[in-house]
Amino acid sequence: SRSDITYFGAGPALLPTAVLEEAAAALLNYNATGLGIAEHSHRSEIATTIINEAKADLVSYLDIPDDYEICFMQGGGSAQFSAMAYNFVGNWVTRKYKEVQGSESDESTVLKLKSAVENLKIDYIITGGWSQKAAAEAERLFGSEHVNIVADSRKANDGKFGTIPSEDTWNLSHDAAMVYYCDNETVHGVEFPGFPKCLEPGPDRPIVVADMSSNILSRRIPISNFSAIFFGAQKNLGSTGITVVIIQKQFLPQPSAALMRKLALPIPPRIFEFETIIKNNSLYNTLSVLDVFIAGRVLKQLLLQHPDKVQGQQILSQKKAQLIYKTLEAYPTIYQIIPDKAARSRMNICFRIKGGSAVEELFLKDAATVGLTGLKGHRELKGIRASNYNSISLEGAEKLANFISTFASQNG
Ligand code: PMP
Repeated sequence: SRSDITYFGAGPALLPTAVLEEAAAALLNYNATGLGIAEHSHRSEIATTIINEAKADLVSYLDIPDDYEICFMQGGGSAQFSAMAYNFVGNWVTRKYKEVQGSESDESTVLKLKSAVENLKIDYIITGGWSQKAAAEAERLFGSEHVNIVADSRKANDGKFGTIPSEDTWNLSHDAAMVYYCDNETVHGVEFPGFPKCLEPGPDRPIVVADMSSNILSRRIPISNFSAIFFGAQKNLGSTGITVVIIQKQFLPQPSAALMRKLALPIPPRIFEFETIIKNNSLYNTLSVLDVFIAGRVLKQLLLQHPDKVQGQQILSQKKAQLIYKTLEAYPTIYQIIPDKAARSRMNICFRIKGGSAVEELFLKDAATVGLTGLKGHRELKGIRASNYNSISLEGAEKLANFISTFASQNG
């Protein structure tokens, strides 16, 4: 049964049973309305209340300042690879247009803007498969001449991911439309230990965008250092189907489609335009209110569990990750942790077992017999990956650590 299993899958991830029970009841009959939550109109007061409450709880849990907007979108984290590039380039053009102080119907204004566009850069820090995909999407949409790879961790690491390049090697552009990075690389098990020093707000404040799909809600974030943050719900927040964008209001304005065409720059489909989605409180089109409901219940539970909000969860996440890493480190002749110690993810713990895939198969099989599942590594990287998201309890992490010890003793 469900209570016998601790599921360490990388996403979709385990959801709290109490939340699923509530969602199951709501799916049949929401608040005694005789209609389920997935049947009620997204234009109903019920939907708006669910959306607004989830937003307010997210603001409270993460301490999001007033000058930020939150919206729920669809298309997963992958849609945001395109949406972030489109919107931040659009906003960059809006700013350049303001600086030029002309009219877009005026030839000389357009010429000035065209020459500015020659220097347009979108900066990417590549530390794993997900930031790599985001950068590749920007190259596809805007051309590689507009994409600057600030750093690529494979360069000084034998072509492999697993480190975060030292900031003194980073090659940041001047006036980039955004500097993009992935705070936690789910596949490669690499997490930024904290906010990069060289991106901290200063006189030429960099515009920083981060993918936090796999570590959101697990540690404190200095929100005001970011211009935007996004994350799919399906790891730490809720069920698959919604993606959350937190964006500073000043970066919303977009230029006209006509101006973008004159500058030969692509314009986003409306559905990817943050300004439009936010103006409509995430209801520009039919949103999956069920998924927002589930996310809202997870947030309520986290707020109840941790009176000190995300700080409380940060301590717990750290404790669980340390327990698992320490146990792996205790058997260096058996286990090999893949990423560099300084860049190890608290969320996705990636390791290999000496003896290769046959021993790893045995590890997975034995783990499953004691109810520890979802540990199989990524299909390309192989090995073992234990995803230690918020829904893994301390007891669940202890159970895994004990199993890691026992397996090592029996197979060493
Ligand atoms: N970013 C990260 C860090 C991810 O882990 C994932 C998915 N696992 C994505 C983006 C892509 O998300 P989706 O599958 O929802 O498009």
